[in-house]
Amino acid sequence: MSFAARTETLQLEGAYEVLARAQALEAEGHSLIHLEIGEPDFPTPANICLAGIEAIANGRTRYNPPAGLPSLREVIAASAGDQRGITVRAGQVVVSPGAKPNLFFPTLALVEPGDEVIYPDPGFPTYRAMIEVAGGTPVPVPLEEESGFSFDLDRFDRAINDRTRLIVLNSPGNPTGGVLPLQDLEHIAAAAQKHDAWVLSDEVYAQIVFDGLSVPSIAALDGMLERTIILDGFSKTYAMTGWRIGFAIMPEALAARVSLLLNHSVGCTAHFTQLAGIEALTGPQDAVAKMVARYQARRDLLVAGLNALPGIHCLLPQGAFYAFPNIRETGLSSRDFADEMMQAGVALLPGTAFGQCGEGYVRLSYANSQDNLRRALARMKAAIHQRPG
Ligand code: PLP
Repeated sequence: MSFAARTETLQLEGAYEVLARAQALEAEGHSLIHLEIGEPDFPTPANICLAGIEAIANGRTRYNPPAGLPSLREVIAASAGDQRGITVRAGQVVVSPGAKPNLFFPTLALVEPGDEVIYPDPGFPTYRAMIEVAGGTPVPVPLEEESGFSFDLDRFDRAINDRTRLIVLNSPGNPTGGVLPLQDLEHIAAAAQKHDAWVLSDEVYAQIVFDGLSVPSIAALDGMLERTIILDGFSKTYAMTGWRIGFAIMPEALAARVSLLLNHSVGCTAHFTQLAGIEALTGPQDAVAKMVARYQARRDLLVAGLNALPGIHCLLPQGAFYAFPNIRETGLSSRDFADEMMQAGVALLPGTAFGQCGEGYVRLSYANSQDNLRRALARMKAAIHQRPG
């Protein structure tokens, strides 16, 4: 069977691949602790569920506009604008079934075959996939542990040029948990303006940050709103991964193009899901604060435990729910380390699932209970101590 070239290099996200292997081992009777999947383990807050259920009961189960309900777009414009200190009009908001379509469609709308797209390595695997499907040339730029997993700005400066059409940023970052500092964003913004490039700023973890930190958005810098797509959503902040709802903010002309792509692909986002989204943004926010406090306690437990293991060094992540320890001193490759841990009963991801620069690292999701994190650390410790040499 032959397929279109644009699908030739697509690969399954590493997390799904490892999950399938872990489940196969479980089916054989092995006990596995799942630290591979990047998904909140909390239920969707009850007020949001009720809003969705009520909406279905009231018959909100039909088609609606491709870019989303005007009422939800208004609410998003107000809240997303407030969070970032920018003014957003409802016409700049595009709602989508999950955040992912708002990665793919703006990229398809902007990138011509041969255009270069800069993206973080290690980074969320969908970035490379969407660039390749659009026919763009992927230009990975390393994130450096020494700078808290921000870009290596020298490499960034060498990568950007007049062929760069789009720069993808992700802060707080998956898989590293790193936050891009304001001065780095200023550097990137100046380069984007000089080379007339767009920025796609993936901020889906912007509400999951610790120690009172707030995450700066590149969109708030002078002259950037008109060349930035802010990606955000409900999946992570409100534990709504399976509801499939997300959104992006972009200039109105681009929003109109992306709406056409949504119209002809997914059609629209479910009406009742959007009404649940309105409740998420306008209802009480204490559930979010509670989840973030729980993530922070788990982060502290996991990172301290990892740093107590021989050969492992882990930076304290500032956001999201991932730890990205350096495992080089164990002498194992990322994949071998992940395989050994799988045998020991802990499913985690090799850093290379996020690009070549992930070699020497692994990703552990701490969207899991403290008990499970303690058990995982004990299993890892036993496995490391049992290794020859
Ligand atoms: N962006 C990043 C960095 C992510 O980690 C994810 C999900 O894992 C997404 C976007 C996609 O989110 P959604 O489930 O809302 O499509």
